[in-house]
Amino acid sequence: MSELSAQKHSFQAEVAQLLHLVTHSLYSNPEIFLRELISNASDACDKLRFEGINHPEYYENDPDLHVRVHFNKDNKTLTISDNGIGLSQQEAIDNLGTIAKSGTKDFMSKLTGDQKSDAQLIGQFGVGFYSGFIVAEKITVESRRAGSEQSEGVRWISAGTGEFEVEQINKESRGTDIILHLREDALEYLESYKVKQIINKYSDHISLPIEMQKEVWQEDEAAEGEEPKGGQYVKTDEWEAINSASALWTRSKSEITDEQYTEFYKNLSHDFAAPLAWAHNRVEGSTEYTQLLYIPSKAPHDLFTRESKAGIKLYVKRVFIMDDADNLIPNYLRFVQGVVDSADLPLNVSRELLQESRDVKTIREGNTRRILTVLDGLAKSEDAADQEKFKTFYSEFGSVLKEGLGEDFGNRERILKLLRYATSNNDEISTSLVDYKARMKEGQKAIYFVTADSLNAAKNSPQLEVFKKKGIEVLLMSERVDEWAMNFVHEFDGTPLQNVSKGAVDLGDLQDAEEKKALEVAAEQFKPVVDQLSEALKEKTKEVRVTTRLVDSPACLVTGEGELSPQLIRMLKDAGQPVPDMKPILEINPEHPLVQKLEGSAQFDDLANVIFDQALIAEGGLPEDPAAYIKRINSLLLK
Ligand code: ADP
Ligand code: MG
Repeated sequence: MSELSAQKHSFQAEVAQLLHLVTHSLYSNPEIFLRELISNASDACDKLRFEGINHPEYYENDPDLHVRVHFNKDNKTLTISDNGIGLSQQEAIDNLGTIAKSGTKDFMSKLTGDQKSDAQLIGQFGVGFYSGFIVAEKITVESRRAGSEQSEGVRWISAGTGEFEVEQINKESRGTDIILHLREDALEYLESYKVKQIINKYSDHISLPIEMQKEVWQEDEAAEGEEPKGGQYVKTDEWEAINSASALWTRSKSEITDEQYTEFYKNLSHDFAAPLAWAHNRVEGSTEYTQLLYIPSKAPHDLFTRESKAGIKLYVKRVFIMDDADNLIPNYLRFVQGVVDSADLPLNVSRELLQESRDVKTIREGNTRRILTVLDGLAKSEDAADQEKFKTFYSEFGSVLKEGLGEDFGNRERILKLLRYATSNNDEISTSLVDYKARMKEGQKAIYFVTADSLNAAKNSPQLEVFKKKGIEVLLMSERVDEWAMNFVHEFDGTPLQNVSKGAVDLGDLQDAEEKKALEVAAEQFKPVVDQLSEALKEKTKEVRVTTRLVDSPACLVTGEGELSPQLIRMLKDAGQPVPDMKPILEINPEHPLVQKLEGSAQFDDLANVIFDQALIAEGGLPEDPAAYIKRINSLLLK
């Protein structure tokens, strides 16, 4: 068969439009052509594997599937060859001349005709086979379908304009050669180091070997008695794989050792330390994917900065798509590192598409559940090593996990189960809500907690006094995130949670009728003092009232139900956020001598202000006018 029989064909209209774009747009990321072509080669080998099940003869004594990349500097060609399924003449016409893929169709429908914005779009999508035209002025495809006669090969040639030519050829080897005739501005792809670098970056985990010809250094010939002046690399006939050719996560768990998992993690994360735990699963269901997720043993330094990124790499059918695929894991699990390999996402998926994808949503939910399950397993384990791991995890990442209370309502209960706190009975940050509930007093209807700026402030908070007196345990929350996170939590396992510095204390059945009566009496008796205080402090407080929550302190500040607490207000102010002007409620202890002194005092005003400012200091704040505070104290001391 000869050139005489070559037939001209026109591209489908959309292809012509696409090619025009590819060749006329400044492609932001030209090197992806190699990823696309290698992925096609790998697909072709996958197809042969599949068809070969029923047609072993398709292997034609050439059973080792591979992709080979070679270049010819003289001809300025770069060739990607595979010994996969190959193309028949009709398939070449159909598959390379029209657009069948949904991804590309989708892409075409988004084109605006405006060159600049379209060029941006193209960078996001990737365009499969046609991406070859980013670097090639002409592409020759030579192929022969597995199992067909050698004389039934096909040559497909196009310069990426309106048409392509197809002719029948003799082709000895099965499979496809994609020969790129490189443009003058793309000759860098004739450098083996450059090509290797790209393959390592994008295709290392293709499970087929990607081979290049081995090169050896050959010195220039030198005149007698002289040193050679230089030399060059020359290609040998030997082929060597330049990728590792086996994606760890595609192997079955039983074949992988802990060392291998650890090594893979270190490579992936650039972490020197071994991970705490990992989860490796193949998930089947509405969408199919493999997850290999790691929990590191140490928080990265930037965990709390805005730049901190999720460390999940996304693969589609073993082809690397992107780093830091933050759509695959919620923000509060951003410390998780690993790989997700989807069988369903399109190869040309962009970050923008990821956001909208249903599959991605399913994967994210699956990843979240898996990590929470692993953590739960560590927390519940009887094994001392696991318990130690959970402790390490919690001290490194506990505060990030807490963000989940506000972010992931669906998993709130599961997250709550993993949280640990110090309590008024135990300084160690080890009490879970489950433990707390088990220790609740008879008649206790709520889980009590207090938030403060530090553990000490929480522990010594005046609001805790009545709880201590009655021996009721209170959870101490002293991390920055607590105040915010607890806004989203109203109950755990059917028991309400109550912030003891918010609203009136309702001890329910823990308070007997006598105590309730005493409060009423005190409120009645102290009414004139309360009124006078309200007047004296009207700039500073919203309300003054009598309380039974205090034992040793004269007064404390509380926040109205549903209002921002003083800590949260301070946090927002520190962050430069506008804060609503909110005044706290002052509660006074009718049993306290200082409070009792108020009635008829000649220094009522000084005393009132000092009591207020002290309550402010007790919960970590500062008097608005420290100098005035000191003056008042001193004047009282001198009396
Ligand atoms: P996709 O890979 O998403 O199908 P491409 O544009 O990358 O889209 O490729 C278009 C089609 O061309 C493929 O579906 C396949 O039928 C055919 N093709 C491309 N490269 C090869 C190859 N190396 N071997 C066999 N067929 C190929
Ligand atoms: Mg493809």
